[in-house]
Amino acid sequence: MRTIYTAGIDIGSSSAKAVILRDKEMVAWHVQQTGPDSMESARSIFDVVLSESGLSAGSIGHIIATGYGRINVPFADGHVTEISCHAKGANFVLPSVRCILDIGGQDSKAIRCDGKGRVTNFAMNDKCAAGTGRHLDRVATALKTPVEKVGPLSMNIVEQAAKINSTCTVFAQVDVIRLVRKGVHLNDILAGTCDAIASRIVELVDRIGLEADFMMTGGVAKNIGVVNRLEEKLGVKPHIPEEPQIIGALGAAILALEKALE
Ligand code: ADP
Repeated sequence: MRTIYTAGIDIGSSSAKAVILRDKEMVAWHVQQTGPDSMESARSIFDVVLSESGLSAGSIGHIIATGYGRINVPFADGHVTEISCHAKGANFVLPSVRCILDIGGQDSKAIRCDGKGRVTNFAMNDKCAAGTGRHLDRVATALKTPVEKVGPLSMNIVEQAAKINSTCTVFAQVDVIRLVRKGVHLNDILAGTCDAIASRIVELVDRIGLEADFMMTGGVAKNIGVVNRLEEKLGVKPHIPEEPQIIGALGAAILALEKALE
């Protein structure tokens, strides 16, 4: 059987992700910040994975775009929602997965899927930044802390986790300013922030019901402070893939492979 190369391009609100598959083997992947121009972000990340894999654009048999900027990928052969792509990608990594929590920059989604990675139900929070990566990024910037350090610092509580509003990002930011003025330790403010995000996410998961195996995807799955608190609140250990941020792009590449084989 001949070798088929496919690609998945995920243009998210905060980062662009791309994956190239040779049949079912991942030969290149990359994550970079989304620029102001989605089309330019798509071209640039595609160039990176092509160069990493040593392939030319012409050798890619089928390309699927996903993410909020998916319609701005002119070289894609089709586009599919992130919900379907995360379910497909999660199923590829762990076929026994039945529930996926994708926490990205702009929204969070709880997804249920069957044994083939097909979506059976989902709930989404895209109305408010509370419970998303954007909120964590804002707090990190306000506290002059790199977002990668928020999780580890939040696990190192000095006195106690600060109380922070979990229902509204504006109120939460007011809380953060008030706590800084009161001299509350950075780690305790970050602990309260991660706890508030986790509480918000639990409400989302409850809307579809949690079933193991349970996987977390999206950039916030790299935040140990949110992941550990979610595990505590839900009482179920989530599976965290090696690179949770590329699961949507991986799912898009798998869907591209299925199309190419039709
Ligand atoms: P989108 O698909 O909407 O662009 P992502 O799934 O890429 O979103 O997730 C982006 C979010 O992930 C950021 O807002 C940030 O909070 C978080 N994030 C990204 N990288 C890291 C990291 N190394 N450690 C902790 N959090 C991270």
